[in-house]
Amino acid sequence: MIPLSAASYPWHQTIWQQLQRARQQQHLPHALLFTGSTGCGHEAMVYALAQSLLCLEPSENGYACGSCRSCKVFTAHSHPDFMLLSLAEDKQAISVEQVRSLERFLELSRSYSPNRVALILNADAMNIHAANSLLKSLEEPADNSYILLFTDRVAALMPTIRSRCQQFRLPLPTPVESLAWIEGQTIAIRQTASELLGLARGRPLAAIAEDVGERLQQKILFLNQLKSVLTGHLSITEVASQWEKYNRQELLDWQLIWVQSLINQEVGGALVGEASELVDCLVKPQGLWLLYERLLELKALSTHPLNGRLFVEHMLSLWL
Ligand SMILES: [Zn+2]
Repeated sequence: MIPLSAASYPWHQTIWQQLQRARQQQHLPHALLFTGSTGCGHEAMVYALAQSLLCLEPSENGYACGSCRSCKVFTAHSHPDFMLLSLAEDKQAISVEQVRSLERFLELSRSYSPNRVALILNADAMNIHAANSLLKSLEEPADNSYILLFTDRVAALMPTIRSRCQQFRLPLPTPVESLAWIEGQTIAIRQTASELLGLARGRPLAAIAEDVGERLQQKILFLNQLKSVLTGHLSITEVASQWEKYNRQELLDWQLIWVQSLINQEVGGALVGEASELVDCLVKPQGLWLLYERLLELKALSTHPLNGRLFVEHMLSLWL
């Protein structure tokens, strides 16, 4: 879900200022490609830029005012000078028809905003015909028009698209920024901010996603059962029957992080997080690298339609 207000996060400040300076000097490129991980609020920043380019009275630092006629219709999803293109829920790709409608939109004259703005989310999902069709608009932009693209998979974007846009790599927030932001959220969360951030691999918005609390409980349960397997209190079969339908990639991600942390301790680093619970249960501490490699190999297979119970049994047996 993307908030349609002029959301902005501390980790976007530098790029935001860079964009606004370019805008004030009339150097803002007409085709801007933003890249970065999802779960960090990047889409909201690109939305904020779109709203700001349309706003009738942007503030000194370039943020949309939120109250002018343009901002009101933007927030109501009905701005005549704004067009959003994204992957439809039931579709695999952004089609050439979608891109053609964007071209027609850009040729129209403005209504009351100073610019026309088209935003393409999941830009990597454009099929080859769609991407080829977009090239012309990127090369010869209509006056006062901006095309903003966002993708979290820049490598999947056609090189000809990339070369016609100015690229902005949106940064992953630092752990300090992320923790401060999560702690500032008013939602009731039972876990500490650092636990949540660890779960979400450094992506603060993902960290407060609704299901994170539930997943943390699952992770703790799995950790305890893994410990019981390692100490001989539960059999692999008993544990596997409980996890055969659970997301395999997630199970493997937890274990990979724990093993990484255990390896880190072997080479003199500090042992952090849940991995410390496992250190006394390990059957063969010297085999950690091998275990890590085997878990990684298994992760590569995790999307194959293998029998769930056998998969988890095999996964657990790697620890023994
Ligand atoms: Zn405004």
